Amino acid sequence: MDTHGLLDTIKKEIHRRRRISARLMVGFSLVTVLGFSAVCGSVLLDMRRGAEELARQTLENLAASIDADINRNIELYDASLRSVANNLLLPELRSVSPPIDRLILFDHLVPAPHLGAIRVYDEHGDLTRDSAVLHPAKENRSDQPFFAVHRDEPYFGLYISGPQQLDGQYSVVVSRRINGPGGQFLGVVAGSIKFGYFQDLFKRLRLRPNDMIAVLAQDGTLVVRNPFTQELIGKNMMFTPGVQKMFERRNGWFAGVGTVDGVQRMFVWSDSTKPLVVLVAKSWDDIYAMWRREATWIGIVLLVLATFVAAVTVFFLREIDRRAQAERQLEELAITDPLTGLTNRRKFDAAIDTEWRRAIRQNTPIALLMIDADHFKAYNDRFGHQAGDQMLVGIAVCIADTVQRAGDCAARFGGEEFAVLLPGLTASAAEAVAETIRRKVQEWSDIEGGVTVSVGVASTTPAAAHQWHDLVEAADRALYAAKELGRNRCVVAVRGEVTLVA
Ligand code: GH3
Ligand code: MG
Ligand code: MG
Repeated sequence: MDTHGLLDTIKKEIHRRRRISARLMVGFSLVTVLGFSAVCGSVLLDMRRGAEELARQTLENLAASIDADINRNIELYDASLRSVANNLLLPELRSVSPPIDRLILFDHLVPAPHLGAIRVYDEHGDLTRDSAVLHPAKENRSDQPFFAVHRDEPYFGLYISGPQQLDGQYSVVVSRRINGPGGQFLGVVAGSIKFGYFQDLFKRLRLRPNDMIAVLAQDGTLVVRNPFTQELIGKNMMFTPGVQKMFERRNGWFAGVGTVDGVQRMFVWSDSTKPLVVLVAKSWDDIYAMWRREATWIGIVLLVLATFVAAVTVFFLREIDRRAQAERQLEELAITDPLTGLTNRRKFDAAIDTEWRRAIRQNTPIALLMIDADHFKAYNDRFGHQAGDQMLVGIAVCIADTVQRAGDCAARFGGEEFAVLLPGLTASAAEAVAETIRRKVQEWSDIEGGVTVSVGVASTTPAAAHQWHDLVEAADRALYAAKELGRNRCVVAVRGEVTLVA
């Protein structure tokens, strides 16, 4: 490979590397940003799941501890009711005075501030004994569910009522049936748990404003709710899909909307087989609050990083582009003649080399014009060097104006001499081009002060063994002949004069 071929290859390699650098730069930035986003996205999702899991566990523990407290108290209270119901059957009881009777039945009971008096009703619903007073006032409760249910269903067990007003405050009535020796109905023993008990229990917990605790009876009746909501207390909540679900499974959770406040919450229950079922809930806003703060920070950091990477990428792409532009300008300068703007000699040599080899490969003709200003020395002497320069620019314009096909190459060969490479043109076609140039120069210079050109034309269809220098030499000789013949004319190199040229 000769010098021109090598230069071309190096240039192409530089362009290729520049393209690769730009693509690598963009690719690297994209991969960096996408990679970071993917990692952050996955971490955030994990954190979100973690927040949910933590909330569920916290709620499960909360539900379990409330559940344990309430149901333990009910069990203890139930034990007291049972013992009263059993002791009522003692035959000794018939022969003792009311104070002793009261002592036997109620004295062993542990008093608790939130537990109401235990009362005994006979089979007609008439109040017979009251743990709080020795001689209770007359009252009949046969119409009350806590009485009727035991009268009508012998094996009902422990009855827990919905919330109701008792002695001026909300309470839950707890009752058991009194069976005779043969299982016959002898009445009901009943007690009550005041709402104060639940309120005290909830007060001990550290709850957020949107946290919710509900205690429901087995039939779905809402016994108590924190925060206290008058309109829902005593209502059957079975109409909500969440509560229905709660009674289908022993424990679990569901996502739902608060019936009163419309807040979206996670609801967890611990054991729906207990007499009173505890349902606790936390708002999703509270569950995700910390996660949201962290996600916002990570998002901001990611955005800053992406912006930084984008800015750096744009900066480097611009730099690559600027360098490419500068190199292109330098290249342009390196191949351009500064006075006329035509291709310079160096580029012309490269062009003729390339086209020569193409003509050999494709077996096509290639033509060359050598153009020289006539008596230019005299012109310079007469009008000065600067006017001479202007004249050279004018000749260059006439040439460039004529030679416009892709692949054609018009160059300043040196001094007041120009060369035009016309790939694919035969001698006669090239002569026509030469003639057009000569005429244009003449027409133009008639106005500008009279300079003409002589043109030597040569064309050949080269074979592999031939050198392009021979074509230049032939065109040169034809140019010399044109000068000899009187200038301002075109002469075509003829066979015989130039061995190569057809
Ligand atoms: P001929 O018709 O035989 O070509 O005569 P000529 O005077 O043109 O040829 P010669 O080779 O004797 O002189 C060439 C002149 O061209 C000499 C030089 O002053 C002038 N010349 C060469 N390059 C430039 C240039 O860049 N600018 C100017 N103004 N003149 C130049
Ligand atoms: Mg000359
Ligand atoms: Mg000359």
